[in-house]
Amino acid sequence: MELIDQYLRKVNYLRVSVTDRCDLRCVYCMKEKMQFLPRSEVLTLEEIERLCDNFIELGVEKIRLTGGEPLVRNDIIKLIERLNYKKNNTNLNEITLTTNGTLLKQYAKQLKLNGVNRINVSLDTINPKKYNKITRFGNIEKVFDGINECLDSDIKVKINTVVIKDFNENEIEELLSWTSNKKIDLTFIEVMPMEETDISREYQFVSLSETYDNLNKKYKFIKSDHNTGGPARYFTSFKLSNKIGFISPLTNNFCATCNRVRISSTGKLFMCLGQNDYVDFREIMRKDYSDDFIKEKIRFALNIKPKNHDFMIGTKINKYMKRHMNVTGG
Ligand code: SAM
Ligand code: SF4
Repeated sequence: MELIDQYLRKVNYLRVSVTDRCDLRCVYCMKEKMQFLPRSEVLTLEEIERLCDNFIELGVEKIRLTGGEPLVRNDIIKLIERLNYKKNNTNLNEITLTTNGTLLKQYAKQLKLNGVNRINVSLDTINPKKYNKITRFGNIEKVFDGINECLDSDIKVKINTVVIKDFNENEIEELLSWTSNKKIDLTFIEVMPMEETDISREYQFVSLSETYDNLNKKYKFIKSDHNTGGPARYFTSFKLSNKIGFISPLTNNFCATCNRVRISSTGKLFMCLGQNDYVDFREIMRKDYSDDFIKEKIRFALNIKPKNHDFMIGTKINKYMKRHMNVTGG
C-alpha cells in the first residue's frame, strides 16, 4: 500500500510531536512565557500508536518522534518499544528522534535497546554562554554528555543547527571542525517563520544560500547523493571528514520532493509545515470511529496536501504560521 498525494509525491515519512512541552525555551522557537496544553488535549500514547498503525498500514516506513522535547514525555520509551515491535512485522523500517539532547545521557541506552539507531540533536552553538542565552537557560554540558552517551551506545548522531543572524553566523566554521573531528554529520537549517517569538523573524533570518556560497569558497563542496529521507541537501569536502547538510526552505525550495506529513501532539495532521491547514484526528479517535474511517480521512488529507509551503520572511512582508514550531516539531 502507498500514500500518494495529488501531486504524485509518495508520502512514507511521518513526524509525530509527542508533546508541546520542553525543558528549554529556544528564542527562535518559543516565547519566554508559553502556555502549554492541558494533558487532556494531548494524545495518549495509545492514541499516538493507533494513528501510527494506520499510517504504517497505508505505507509509512519511517517515523520521527519530536516535540516540544520528545524525551520529556512520560513513558516515551514505552511508545518507542511498541513502535519498534512493528519494525519486525510491518513495512516500518526506522524510528528516530529529534531532540535537544539534554536528557540523552539518561535515555541513550534505552533508545538503542529499542531500535533507535540514529538521532538528530539540535545544537546551535558549542559555546556554553551562548547556548545558555539561545535556550534561555540551558546547560550545554548536558548535551555534550548526551551526545557522548549516544556515540558510546552506537547511536549515529547528526547535529542540526539553525543559523541565526548576529548569533552563530560567525561560529559556522567552528561547528564544521567540531563535528568533523567527531565524525558526526552537521545540517544547517534556515529560520522559518512559524508563529512570532519575542524577536521578529527578519532579525533572525540568514539566507543559507549565502552561507553555502561563502563556505564553498573555502571547502569546495562536492555534492553527495546521501539522503536520509529528509529535505537536506548534503555535501562533502576534502577538508572535512563528515557530511554537511543544508535545509533551506526559503532560499532553495524542496517542496517538489516532499515525502512527509506531521501530527501535532493534539492529533492534528498538518500536511505541510508551512501551511495552516490540518485534519483533526483526535476527535475522530475519541468519537470511536473505525480504523477504516481513519484511513479514509488520511487519504483525504493527502489529497489536499498543498503543492508548496507558504513561508516568507522579508522586511515588508512576513508570512508566518499560526503556531510555534513545538506544535509540529520541525
Ligand atoms: N526539542 C527538540 C529539538 O530541539 O530538537 C525537537 C523539537 S524542535 C521544535 C525541532 C527543530 O526545530 C529543532 O532543530 C529546532 O532548532 C528547530 N526549530 C525551532 N523553531 C524553528 C524555526 N522557527 N525555524 C527553524 N527551525 C526551528
Ligand atoms: Fe524546545 Fe526544541 Fe523548541 Fe528549543 S527548539 S525550545 S529545545 S522544542
